Amino acid sequence: MKRQILFYLCLCCLCAGILVFPYRVEREPAVREGTSESGEPSFDEGLVLEVLHGEKVEKMTLSSYLVGVVSAEMPHSFPMEALKAQAVAARTFTLKCRAGGKHTDGDVCTDSSCCQAWTEELSPHAVEAVLSTDGIVLTYGEELIDATYFSCSGGRTEAAVAVWGSDVPYLQAVDSPGEEEAPRFRETVELSPEAFAARLQSLRPELSLRGSPIKWFGEIRYTVGNGIDVVQIGGAEFKGTELRKLFGLRSTNMRFCVTDEGITVSTLGYGHRVGLSQYGAKAMAEQEQDYTRILCHYYQKAEIKRLFHQEEA
Ligand SMILES: [Zn+2]
Repeated sequence: MKRQILFYLCLCCLCAGILVFPYRVEREPAVREGTSESGEPSFDEGLVLEVLHGEKVEKMTLSSYLVGVVSAEMPHSFPMEALKAQAVAARTFTLKCRAGGKHTDGDVCTDSSCCQAWTEELSPHAVEAVLSTDGIVLTYGEELIDATYFSCSGGRTEAAVAVWGSDVPYLQAVDSPGEEEAPRFRETVELSPEAFAARLQSLRPELSLRGSPIKWFGEIRYTVGNGIDVVQIGGAEFKGTELRKLFGLRSTNMRFCVTDEGITVSTLGYGHRVGLSQYGAKAMAEQEQDYTRILCHYYQKAEIKRLFHQEEA
C-alpha cells in the first residue's frame, strides 16, 4: 500500500514538473516587458484561479490575486524593482502550487503559513509591479522553480538542503548585504539555565543537564548560510531547525552566549532564509539593480521566462 502511494506521489511530481508548458514560453522576456508594448493579451488576466479564502473559494484572475499577494507580502514603500521581483516570485510560487495540486479544493490559499499572504487592501505600487511583469516566471530545467522567499536573511541566505534536507540547484546560500534596517534583523532571547534545560528536555526527556551550563555545550556545526546545522548540548545532538522551532527563534542563524546565570540566544534574519530575501531585494533595488538582477542573484541558475496562453487550435 505504501509503495502504491509512493508511486502515485512520484507520478504527481512528474506531472507537476512539466505543467509549465501548457503555456507558450518566451525565453528573453526582458526585451518585451509590459503588456501594452508587446501587443499580446495579458497572461495574468487570462488565468482564473480558485483561491481558498477562509471558508470560501473565490474565483479571481491571477492578476487580481497577485496584486493582493504583493500588497500583503511587501511594504508598498519598497522600490519598484524589489516589488517586481516579489511579483515574479509570487507568480512562480502560485503557478507551481496550482500545477502541483497543493490544495485539492482550490489552487492556492490566503494563509501565509501555507501558501502566501493576501489582502483586499491593494497598493497601487503592487498593481504596477504585477502589470509590468505580466506572465514572467522563473524556471529551471524547463520547470517552474520553487520560488520561496522570506523577510530578511541576516546577511546571507540559506541553502534549501540545510533547512528542508534536499539539495535544490537554484536555492543555494548567497550573500545578502544591506538588510540591517529590517525590523527583525537582530533579536535576542534570554533564558535561565533551568528554563533552557526544561525546554530541551521537553524534546529529549532522557537529557541530563546539571552543573554549569558552560559545560553543556559541545561541538557546533554550521551551514553554508551561517546557520546552525547541529549543536551538541548535554551530549545530545540538536538541529538548528529543531532549536528554532523549540525556542520560537526568528531564524537558524543563531549564536549562544552562555554564562552560569543564563543562556542568551541571538539570531540574525527572519524566516527560513531560503530563496529571495525581501529586504535584500530592497537593498539591491536601492543600488540601481533591476528586478531581473535581483532574481538572478537570489535564485542562481534559474532562468527568467515569459508565459503566454496557447492560441486555440
Ligand atoms: Zn495553502
